[in-house]
Amino acid sequence: MADEYDVIVIGGGPAGYPAAIRAAQNKLKAACIDEWQNYDGSRAFGGTCLNAGCIPSKALLESTELLHRAQVEFAAHGIQTGAVSMDVAAMQKRKAGIVKGMTGGILQLFKAAGVTPLQGHGRFLGLGQVEFTAPDGSVRQLSAKQVVLASGSQPAPLKSAPFDGRHIVDSWGALEFDAVPKRLGIIGAGVIGVELGSVWRRLGAEVVILEALPEFLSIADQQLAKEALKHFRKQGLDVRLGAKVSGARVADGAVQVEYSDAAGASQSLTVDRLVVCIGRRPFTQGLLAEGSGVELDERGFIKVDHECRTTAPGVWAVGDCVRGPMLAHKGKEEGVAVADRIAGLYAEVNYDVIPSVIYTAPEIAWVGKTEEQVKATGRPYKVGSFPFLASGRARAMEASQGFVKVIAAKDDDQILGVHVVGPMAGELIAEAVLAMEYSASTEDLQRTIHAHPTLSEGLHEAALAADKRAIDMPNR
Ligand code: FAD
Ligand code: NAD
Repeated sequence: MADEYDVIVIGGGPAGYPAAIRAAQNKLKAACIDEWQNYDGSRAFGGTCLNAGCIPSKALLESTELLHRAQVEFAAHGIQTGAVSMDVAAMQKRKAGIVKGMTGGILQLFKAAGVTPLQGHGRFLGLGQVEFTAPDGSVRQLSAKQVVLASGSQPAPLKSAPFDGRHIVDSWGALEFDAVPKRLGIIGAGVIGVELGSVWRRLGAEVVILEALPEFLSIADQQLAKEALKHFRKQGLDVRLGAKVSGARVADGAVQVEYSDAAGASQSLTVDRLVVCIGRRPFTQGLLAEGSGVELDERGFIKVDHECRTTAPGVWAVGDCVRGPMLAHKGKEEGVAVADRIAGLYAEVNYDVIPSVIYTAPEIAWVGKTEEQVKATGRPYKVGSFPFLASGRARAMEASQGFVKVIAAKDDDQILGVHVVGPMAGELIAEAVLAMEYSASTEDLQRTIHAHPTLSEGLHEAALAADKRAIDMPNR
């Protein structure tokens, strides 16, 4: 019957849509329900990632990085351009075009795979029943042998600085500015804070980032974080650590932010726009009917086991709405793994080897444990680092900031973590991810031939340095 499926996925973001496609590849009858609506009222699959996250932010980072390079780097190559400037409307139009193309692409993928797309609201009622409400308000009851919940996350609000959609905005608002704010305040020096701070700084905004914690990027290896902070400050990002915001109010078209600094002194800051990006929280509003059997934990995440099974039989949950890092690729792997498990196939997500990338300049990327985490385990370890200053390719690219750092066990040489700050770090980390997936040792990396001159030689040399056998720099 038309409204009976093998698998219904609720949520069409990077966790949900791959689950639906893989289910269809596994010869199961699959539907994907998604309610995302853009500012202009249009509907699109792709969730936060494609519409208001990964893709639009990377589009703006790329445009503004090119501007920055034209302004400050071209001269070093001998390229003379005269004044270079950004047409913000054209930049935003390009971004919107990329987003439209990518989100439209999901519908084509669904068509090719045989997934039924259902745009509207989905609510899990219990016992394989899903209520679907179409945009015109009509309601249909669907049934499925298995249900996958992939409802994602939303920005965490800050009581003392409530969003007003114009002056005090979330990350989506900050991706949509139609003009460069003269003074931009950002609360939270996390991934979004530094990526979007970089975008608007490169376009000329005076950017102040207020971070509550005393250390910068506390989730990253602290040697990496310190190196990155040094470069960000040089670029003009005014990062203030240990800043506790007590209030923000809009008056005369500006935002007055009150906070106490690291020394406990009261401070105030006036900005034209304020972005609050202090983390995201799971989104499950309207998702579960009373008595559905699906339980949430104390922080609002859907409770799941290691294999993404919820507390209700035949119901799975993946992506940002469950525990673990809020990253698109983590959600995608969970979605695909669940669709394979439903089909009775073997699937495993290796939560110890999930890469993180921050797309600033220099880029930041890592996989595995930080040096602080390795130290805390008490296991003896060794570290090898290689600075991009000693890389011919990085020098040729005029991008010799940063380093590669490899941490390995002293006893069996296994690689425990790799941390990169520098050019193309997000691409370079893929080799480390593969190495760690195969439980490689530094010797494995040392014996692998890396093309010359490439940035990847930095990883090779860092692995050699772990045994004080680096060739292209002095071993200490
Ligand atoms: P989402 O992408 O949030 O998708 C959930 C979907 O479900 C949404 O479309 C929502 O409307 C829909 N939905 C929810 N409830 C219902 C319901 N009841 N019925 C129907 N539909 C429903 N991650 C990276 O890995 N790399 C990056 O570079 C990166 N950049 C980011 C930049 C920004 C500015 C932001 C905000 C996030 C970024 N992220 C990045 C994080 C990434 O976007 C998320 O981890 C990812 O989108 C999570 O995927 P998801 O499918 O779990 O949820
Ligand atoms: P985040 O967790 O990365 O950073 C939030 C920061 O805000 C932290 O440093 C935290 O200490 C600080 N903070 C919390 N409360 C505060 C307060 N009251 N005042 C001042 N600072 C405060 O969160 P985010 O930047 O909002 O990003 C949300 C999620 O989106 C993250 O989980 C991230 O993984 C994901 N994301 C990923 C990428 C990427 O992979 N490149 C890019 C953007 C977002």
